[in-house]
Amino acid sequence: MRKITRCPAGILVDGLRAIGHGNLRMIRFDGLLWHDRRWLLDAFGMAATALPPTTFAIEPSTGLLVGVRQVLSPHYDARPAGSSLDLVVIHCISLPPGEFGGPWIDRLFSGSLPFAEHPYFETLRGMRVSAHVLITRSGDITQFVPFTARAWHAGRSSWRGREACNDFSVGIELEGIESAGYAEEQYHTLRALLAALFATYPSLTFENMVAHSDIAPDRKTDPGPSFQWDRIRGDAPLLV
Ligand SMILES: [Zn+2]
Repeated sequence: MRKITRCPAGILVDGLRAIGHGNLRMIRFDGLLWHDRRWLLDAFGMAATALPPTTFAIEPSTGLLVGVRQVLSPHYDARPAGSSLDLVVIHCISLPPGEFGGPWIDRLFSGSLPFAEHPYFETLRGMRVSAHVLITRSGDITQFVPFTARAWHAGRSSWRGREACNDFSVGIELEGIESAGYAEEQYHTLRALLAALFATYPSLTFENMVAHSDIAPDRKTDPGPSFQWDRIRGDAPLLV
């Protein structure tokens, strides 16, 4: 059994340096860069519980995640008076579509996308959208809008007979595309985020989670069939 240690840069496994921060991302071993947590567990015979889980906390008065990267979006407003927080909407986004990494999602949500940078960006001109949070391929999370405010992610939509889902939902974007799968690290971060949301807002539950395509089926297909709902529902384990 290898010894694992938390360190500021991630996790040390008998001196093998984990790359990333706060959570295991990749590890250099035998000259190869590995990033499959399941492989690591198999290779070193670790119990899943040996890896410290990611946890988040939400400050109820501000609706902000504690200690999480914040990028201010101007694309939000107040929720209608008296509206409850009843729904979690899962999305995917990548800019340009199918390309991961880069600053473009931040720039779109913060209203500063340079449209001349890519032909696809021209199609987004005039679009004022946001989400509460984005989870990148490496599992990093950025918050753009406080959960207490209304982000502009769902558009024209309907859930159980209620229109305008932005009024009463949390919008979570996963960096991705409908035709491809999602990264292990994204499920891990999403599970931890959901745990924090459910703890802070008891009206949110596993039963009240939908795909964007569920509430706008004539317009939207995200996050697509490759998103594994059973990985984030009920008692699905965090790390396997
Ligand atoms: Zn969407």
